[in-house]
Amino acid sequence: MKLILLGAPGAGKGTQAEIISETLRIPTISTGNIIREALKSGTELGRKAKGYMDSGQLVPDDIVIGIIRDRLAQPDCADGFILDGFPRTIPQAEALDRMGVAIDRVIEIEVADDTIARRVSGRRICPGCGSSYHVDYKRPTVEGICDRCGDTLVQRQDDRPDTVRERLSVYHEQTEPLKSYYAAAGKLFVVEGQEEIADTSRLVLAALEQ
Ligand code: AMP
Repeated sequence: MKLILLGAPGAGKGTQAEIISETLRIPTISTGNIIREALKSGTELGRKAKGYMDSGQLVPDDIVIGIIRDRLAQPDCADGFILDGFPRTIPQAEALDRMGVAIDRVIEIEVADDTIARRVSGRRICPGCGSSYHVDYKRPTVEGICDRCGDTLVQRQDDRPDTVRERLSVYHEQTEPLKSYYAAAGKLFVVEGQEEIADTSRLVLAALEQ
């Protein structure tokens, strides 16, 4: 199964990707996580991406396309994968097509903008392993500590309200056109993001079986 998860920042793509990844035993590839990792380790990619990420803009297409090309060539992607946060522009989707990657399904998790703003403010991430939590919807066992690796959870710099507003407008302008792109290819399934994570998962997993 080669799957794309589409949706605004904070719609729950990362959380649903974790659940599908465990269910189908295929890796999740999150360009956001790869870029954050590069920022943390101070690589050239991190230095190039920092300004864009901090201001809520998209990192240029050629950079993220290069990241995806390298990552999809890894052996663990042979039996399928979940793309979380890629593609985010039409040229990125076209590049994926040109790479010969035959996507089976695109699931869009739809959440209203005012709900997004509320959800994102409660999101916390683990700087160690990239796992995502939420102060109301997905609390770690010990407050402020990652269940998986024990690191201290933090709020993402780009989850501050001003940057979220910018990211949402970037989403509507540059990423939303992908819905028509994949609908035209007969691959788009739209799932309404629910209040509870498990309810959204049921809808996502049902869409995978259709
Ligand atoms: P995310 O963790 O998916 O919300 O991504 C965080 C940030 O990383 C985005 O706001 C962009 O600056 C950058 N980014 C992640 N994926 C992409 C992509 N496919 N294209 C361009 N920029 C991206």
